[in-house]
Amino acid sequence: MALREKLRNQALRDPLTGLYNRRYMEDSLQRFVRLAERENREVSLVMVDLDHFKRLNDEHGHAFGDQVLRESALALVSALRETDIVCRYGGEELVVILPDCPIERAAEKAEALRQRIESLSSAHGAEITASFGVASIPHTSNNIADLLAAADAALYKAKEAGRNCVVTAPLKPFRLDRPADEQEREGYPRVAAE
Ligand code: GH3
Ligand code: MG
Ligand code: MG
Repeated sequence: MALREKLRNQALRDPLTGLYNRRYMEDSLQRFVRLAERENREVSLVMVDLDHFKRLNDEHGHAFGDQVLRESALALVSALRETDIVCRYGGEELVVILPDCPIERAAEKAEALRQRIESLSSAHGAEITASFGVASIPHTSNNIADLLAAADAALYKAKEAGRNCVVTAPLKPFRLDRPADEQEREGYPRVAAE
C-alpha cells in the first residue's frame, strides 16, 4: 500500500519542488472546466515565470537556483487554498489553477503571490522576482487551449512591461448580436445587455 501511494505520488509530482507536474495539472484543469461549465462557474489560471532566472543561476550557481525554485513553490502553495492546484509547468515556469475564482479575485491573488516571491529577495541577498499572467474561463477564454494561450500571452506582456508584475488577459468583448442567455452562460451578467 505504502509503495503504491509512493508510486502514485511520483507520477503526479515534480521531484524538485514537490509541486504537481504538468500532466496532473492538465488532467485537473479538464475536470475543473467540465464542472465549471455544468455549474456555471469560473475557472481562473495564473501562469508564473521567474524573472532573469538564467542570470540568477549564472551569478549564484545552479544549486542556489534550485533552492529558489523550491522556496518559490512553497511561497505559492502556502498562500493558496488546499483546493487550488499549483504545478511546475516546466523549468522555472509554474501554473496555478484557481477553481471557482472570478478573474478580478485571481488578479488580486496573483499580486499577493508576486509580493511573496519578491519578499524572498532580502533573505538571499539576490533579486528574486516573477512575472504573472492571469486568464479565466469564461471571461477571457472559451476553452482550455485558449486559457493557457491567454495566460501565456499576458505573462509575455508582463515581461515586456519590465517583469515583477501581473498582467490580466483582455476580457472577451461583449457581443450584442448573441442571445442574452448565451452570454450569461459565458459569465456576463444579464444587466450588461441593456
Ligand atoms: P525571463 O525573465 O525572460 O524569464 O528570463 P529567464 O532567464 O528566466 O528565462 P530563460 O527562459 O532565458 O531561462 C530560464 C532559465 O531557467 C534557464 C535554465 O537554466 C533555468 N532553469 C530551468 N529549470 C531549472 C532548474 O530546475 N533549476 C535551475 N537551477 N535552473 C533552472
Ligand atoms: Mg524566466
Ligand atoms: Mg521561462
